[in-house]
Amino acid sequence: MIRPIVLFGDPVLRRKGDRVTSVTPEIRQLADDMVETMRDAHGVGLAAPQVGQSLQLAVVDVSHDEDCVTYLRVNGVECSLAEISPLIFINPEVEGSRQTETEVEGCLSFPDLRGEITRPAEIRARLELLTGETLEVESDGLLARAIQHEVDHLNGKLFIDRMSRAKKLSIQKWLREMQREWEAANRSR
Ligand SMILES: [Zn+2]
Repeated sequence: MIRPIVLFGDPVLRRKGDRVTSVTPEIRQLADDMVETMRDAHGVGLAAPQVGQSLQLAVVDVSHDEDCVTYLRVNGVECSLAEISPLIFINPEVEGSRQTETEVEGCLSFPDLRGEITRPAEIRARLELLTGETLEVESDGLLARAIQHEVDHLNGKLFIDRMSRAKKLSIQKWLREMQREWEAANRSR
């Protein structure tokens, strides 16, 4: 089932998600719905807070382009993106490289907004799967970026927080409008 995507203005996007301590049928259904919702929206990642659930659960799929990473190692073994996609994970821990990279990013909770974001170029991530298995994922490129973007969501952090001062200033008015729209929509409920 495709779920509605929460837009900026909703306080759920600013909350740190709770750890997933037991994988219930509801969690499995939520994860399936998130994959479906991400695909429907043509996104490469989606975090549970973006469908209104304050949980440490996210999905990522960048397998449309095997060349968007230069390497991918899972538990120390070379792996293709197709083998691990869609990647559905809970309770992630991510370590970033000192070397950074700047690329243009978007976010499904901010329709039409794009901006340059600087992040560690490579990551080592410890991701729990719904099966109970743990994956240690080492990669770069779009996979590293997408995982970091989603893990930010699980901590209540948004890509606008990582934009340059100038870019933040230029979108301030637009953000205030989105905030007001959310408040107006939720007052009438
Ligand atoms: Zn996002």
